[in-house]
Amino acid sequence: MTDPRLYCEQALAQGVLLELGREDSHYLVSVMRRREGENIRLFNAKSGEWAAEIRTADRKRAGVEVTRQLRQPHIVPDLELLFAPVKKSRTDFIVEKATELGVRRIRPVITHRTIADKVRTDRLRLLAKEAAEQTERLDLPEIVDAVRLDACLDDWSPDRPLIFCDEAGEAPLMSDALTGERRDGISVLIGPEGGFTPEERERIRALPHAVPVSLGPRILRADTAAVAALTLYQALCGDWTDNAQAREN
Ligand code: SAH
Repeated sequence: MTDPRLYCEQALAQGVLLELGREDSHYLVSVMRRREGENIRLFNAKSGEWAAEIRTADRKRAGVEVTRQLRQPHIVPDLELLFAPVKKSRTDFIVEKATELGVRRIRPVITHRTIADKVRTDRLRLLAKEAAEQTERLDLPEIVDAVRLDACLDDWSPDRPLIFCDEAGEAPLMSDALTGERRDGISVLIGPEGGFTPEERERIRALPHAVPVSLGPRILRADTAAVAALTLYQALCGDWTDNAQAREN
């Protein structure tokens, strides 16, 4: 059983004594049944990943001592997912899978046909933390507060490519559209269940670096489309193409 792994905001260095928050202490002591003297792993984007020893197995305020560094800091390349929120369980799924698939940032965008009750960003951030812990990332994806798509397009930086997953328009397959060279600073856009309006489609395609792509002959649900598009991107020209990422353990 590998040692439990927790994201920790505080700077990690040898000998640092830390008190874990309530949720993390509960998880460690009550759920994972860890006791004094046992090891855990703590990580954040600045410090990398460190081993730590439990000093007080208190299920409300566990105390740990940081011992040795296990992995160097690493931040994933700047791949961003913009998606129109769908119903809660599917939005949760999209956030969790995008975290596992290595996005740097997740940006919920409200489109004309988006039917979403309030996007609970705090909940999505907790989901992303748990997914990052499980997937052994060394950073958390940033979850941006939901914005309207048109406002997002108004501010779009002119040199940032936007891979536009367009279910309706004629568009090349991603494998044809992406020429495979590594790009840092690229976004993928997935629409709502109701799809994009013709006006939205026109507006998006008019962006200087819009890359309309097809995800095949069938209409995918937004959550399926998000996973498919991110997987294709990572495999074609994202960080899956790095030779097995050095994982100093
Ligand atoms: N209601 C729409 C489908 C929307 S699917 C219709 O019936 O046409 C939700 C989103 O997933 C789409 O906006 C698009 O971004 C993406 N998507 C689904 N299937 C796709 C495909 N075959 N090609 C490209 N994008 C797709």
